[in-house]
Amino acid sequence: MSLLEAFKDRLAQTSPTPLALDIVQAEGCLLHDRSGRTYIDLVAGLAVCNVGHRHPAVVKAIKEQADRYLHVIPYGEFLQEPQVHYAERLTSMLPSSLNCVYFVNSGTEAIEAALKLAKRITGRTRLIACRKSYHGSTHGSLSITGNEEKKYRHRPLLPDVRFIRFNAMEDIILIDNETAAVVVEPVQGDAGVRVPDEAWLQALRERCDKTGAIMIFDEVQTGFGRTGRLFGMDHFGVVPDILVLGKALGGGLPMGAFVSSRERMQLLTHQPALGHITTFGGHPLVCAAGLAALEALTAEEMPAHATRMGALFKELLVHPLIKEVRGLGLMLAVELGDAQRVQRVVHDCLDHGVLGFWFLSCPTAFRIAPPLIISGSQVRQACATILAALSRNAT
Ligand code: PMP
Repeated sequence: MSLLEAFKDRLAQTSPTPLALDIVQAEGCLLHDRSGRTYIDLVAGLAVCNVGHRHPAVVKAIKEQADRYLHVIPYGEFLQEPQVHYAERLTSMLPSSLNCVYFVNSGTEAIEAALKLAKRITGRTRLIACRKSYHGSTHGSLSITGNEEKKYRHRPLLPDVRFIRFNAMEDIILIDNETAAVVVEPVQGDAGVRVPDEAWLQALRERCDKTGAIMIFDEVQTGFGRTGRLFGMDHFGVVPDILVLGKALGGGLPMGAFVSSRERMQLLTHQPALGHITTFGGHPLVCAAGLAALEALTAEEMPAHATRMGALFKELLVHPLIKEVRGLGLMLAVELGDAQRVQRVVHDCLDHGVLGFWFLSCPTAFRIAPPLIISGSQVRQACATILAALSRNAT
């Protein structure tokens, strides 16, 4: 069986039309396939490889930790130096109320745990999320995801979930003193990159304070420099009660986390003890990689570079078929207003050495979310390819 046949036959398929690139090597912003072709990566493993593929400091940290120990015990029993160091460093970069980290294995798992914690804090059950949101694929996260198509075959999901419109002031009133949590992406990702008004997020914060609802920011996609600041929330001057992280958190290895105050986190220690548990969460190898990535991200000032490169994309991507390029930093959506053309253009770009990708809930746009280290000349090359692809697919 060929590799492609085995891929299709022996691995569960989620996409009816997988891209099926056969990557043998990756570094920086480039992917190399088995046939010797090179691609500029505008996807970064879906906002994971923010510091670039195989950043030398990340690879070094992984190798060094692999030589010490791998898994030794489920989360929370032993002192594991990489875990403690990563939690210390991460919280040193966050507002002082977000001073305690719980590491898990993925974004959706972190969302699940954050929902549980919000219920524990408030003693309430009602959850509020936004239309067109994406929070993950497990039952709880799916329940608060605003994409009906992904949900309807899995009901019953969590009860007592309500949706508000993203960035709609009038809907904030739906948050009341029966609300346990309000879950928001500071910039919606899979909705096609939607940036809210600062006033809306601030009003949401005030309403949560007034009603006692817990404000949860899902920064799985917006975290770690993606939007041009270390975290998406940094654009808006709003601090959540629980911060949810994932994707780039592990420096290219699988990881999620939720961060809150020490007092609130202590609810997970008693009645019941072991209030949230995970075997692999905070794996030492992943923590070592994540910490090295975070150090590289800040030392090399990648968020500021992302701002500059994002502006360059916006400047260069001018074409009669482009209705809008929206987003912050290197979290961008190129809006064509035509779902079929998006498909054709993404495939055309791939044929010409540029990997772009689509969104879950916005078929009329494609995403640009490269590693944050993308160079100016790579941006120019990628934009020239995109513009040529648009012209080839004008009819
Ligand atoms: N929240 C957001 C905002 C996301 O973009 C994603 C993944 N696309 C998730 C949660 C789920 O993360 P994971 O796939 O690691 O479970």
